[in-house]
Amino acid sequence: MDSLHSQPTPQFGKAEYVGEPGTDRCSACGQPVIHEYYRVNGVMVCPACTASAQTSLPKDTHGSFVRAVLFGSGGALFGLILYSAFGIITGLMIGYLSLAVGYLIGKAMMMGSKGIGGRRYQIVAVLLTYAAVSMSAIPIANRDAVEARGATAGAEAETCATAAPVTCR
Ligand SMILES: [Zn+2]
Repeated sequence: MDSLHSQPTPQFGKAEYVGEPGTDRCSACGQPVIHEYYRVNGVMVCPACTASAQTSLPKDTHGSFVRAVLFGSGGALFGLILYSAFGIITGLMIGYLSLAVGYLIGKAMMMGSKGIGGRRYQIVAVLLTYAAVSMSAIPIANRDAVEARGATAGAEAETCATAAPVTCR
């Protein structure tokens, strides 16, 4: 137990396996966990898989980050069009839709970086999502100005679209 407390990294926690051998399986390879296991982000992983995961983690490079930003920008543009079109056609501004835009951008960035993620990728994804959702207010506001001049619903929708995605539901 002392070795557990002395280790400062909770993500890769090593532990002696005390359960019945064969009842728990490695969540990566499916082999039964026998002597010892690692807790990787809360799931049980055998030592062999932990070792291979630590050595084969994809390296974050400048090229992959640039590709992720490019793909993410494309995703943001696509999300902007979708978000605007949905708002204009239905007249609804749904906060959840900004989450879908964020998901789209995240997926596009993962495609661009070939699966590499990290804090700076998340920050870019949030910024792109915010930009896409914010810019969609422009075509939607134009529609509101034409079709719903003076209507409070239009003003509310515009406020909703320019607000941060998390605060607007
Ligand atoms: Zn395994």
